[in-house]
Amino acid sequence: MVARVIPVEPFDLVIFGGTGDLARRKILPSLFRRMQAGQMPKEARVIGAARAKMSRKAYQTLIREALEEFIPEADRPEEDVAAFTGLLDFVTLDAMGDAGWEELSGKLRQEVVRAFYLSVGPSLFAPISKALSVRGLATNSSRIVVEKPLGHDLASAEELNAQLRTCFAEGQIYRIDHYLGKETVQNLMALRFANALFEPLWNAYHIDHVQITVAETIGVEGRGGYYDKSGAVRDMVQNHLMQLLCLTAMEPPSRFEPDAVRDEKLKVIRALDPVTPADTVRGQYRAQGDIGSYLDHVENPNSRTESFVAIRAEISNWRWAGTPFYLRTGKKLRARLSEIAIVFKDVPHSIFPEVEEKRGNALIIRLQPDEGITLRMTIKDPGPGGMRLTEVPLDMTFAEALGDQASNVPDAYERLIMDVIRGNQTLFMRGDEVEAAWAWTDQIIDAWEANGARPQPYDPGTSGPEDALALLHRDGRRWREIEI
Ligand code: NAP
Repeated sequence: MVARVIPVEPFDLVIFGGTGDLARRKILPSLFRRMQAGQMPKEARVIGAARAKMSRKAYQTLIREALEEFIPEADRPEEDVAAFTGLLDFVTLDAMGDAGWEELSGKLRQEVVRAFYLSVGPSLFAPISKALSVRGLATNSSRIVVEKPLGHDLASAEELNAQLRTCFAEGQIYRIDHYLGKETVQNLMALRFANALFEPLWNAYHIDHVQITVAETIGVEGRGGYYDKSGAVRDMVQNHLMQLLCLTAMEPPSRFEPDAVRDEKLKVIRALDPVTPADTVRGQYRAQGDIGSYLDHVENPNSRTESFVAIRAEISNWRWAGTPFYLRTGKKLRARLSEIAIVFKDVPHSIFPEVEEKRGNALIIRLQPDEGITLRMTIKDPGPGGMRLTEVPLDMTFAEALGDQASNVPDAYERLIMDVIRGNQTLFMRGDEVEAAWAWTDQIIDAWEANGARPQPYDPGTSGPEDALALLHRDGRRWREIEI
């Protein structure tokens, strides 16, 4: 079965920071793949902007090299690469100065969708949006795209939102969290709201607890300067884990429309109880063999920034009261894995007394490495010899179930950039959501700072610090293994 592709309208997409890492690694390769899928109209144009002095031709060569680096050779026939680079243009422009703005303005067309992707450091978000507005490049229908970090805390996020909103209406601002562009994350909504099977069970009466894990194997090498000012809560929990929690816990929206979905997510964040330090565990990886420690990669030798965090969260509403949501994320862990595990309650009474361990059903929504959904069921162990039970997965790994169609699942950025052009904000965060998420994470960070404790050391290649295991053990539960 071939996926249906609906071409988008012609557009001018300006990528500020068009020579940077994010543009070369994600944004432009994603656009290339959308062109190959037939979604980019011939009239589409992508204009890179940065301070580098570069001709249009040199920019096209730079992006050709990026495609060679980030797209397998078999997937980029020369005619496609030539067609794509033919859509590219470049303007030398300083976000903080006057150079280049007039030239950029002259290149933009009136009659097409206009989008500005701010693939630059966050300190440039406000100056660029202001310049776009003051210099008359932004129209009432233009879109502006920004990506994390969207502030450092509630106060700075409010300030950033206020700055963006002086130049753009909320309906024009696209705050990307690429987790929301993942196929499985949207499938979570399809699973919940397009099947009658799960929703009656989707509450505290039937769900024992939820585990959300985003584990990385890499450390902070090369990013220590940025990361040390941030830490796992700001870098991962405030955005990605919070979004996964919201989609898991939200009430059914009345429609699959931007504000209907985002209203429901916001209600979840606002219903989260404040978390005390006793319900959190912070960790920092130590050295092991020739693997350097966290502290080896940051300037401050006494840094207390966490490279791992585990949190026990509770949502105070009718659906979830009494069902904890355990969140954990960290660097230098055993495997690279992101998943949501919905762990159902045990049967109320076992008629199989010889089975010592009762394990509830679990629905595992895996975002990486292999996107897919698994339902863990208990069945009879085949063969004679009494009633022994065993666990089997009912596996909906997309690659197997959907064949070719699944292997062509677009990258999150492909979907999200096309949604910007289509003007669909459903999978983007609204300003009030971002602020509510900061309000919740700020109180966790403030409590840590007040108590001054150091993060617990953990060995690279493990599941994090011992206390993270204890966080669940004390509730009579245990984490799923971080393994693939
Ligand atoms: P980067 O590699 O440092 O690229 C920055 C880009 O901004 C370059 O093209 C640079 O070109 C341009 N730039 C810097 N100052 C400028 C100015 N005054 N006027 C115009 N252009 C200017 O950074 P990046 O990794 O691509 O990240 C960009 C943004 O995305 C950051 O906010 C980052 O936090 C966020 N982000 C990145 C990733 C990722 O995977 N890389 C993931 C998520 C979020 P010139 O120096 O030539 O001007």
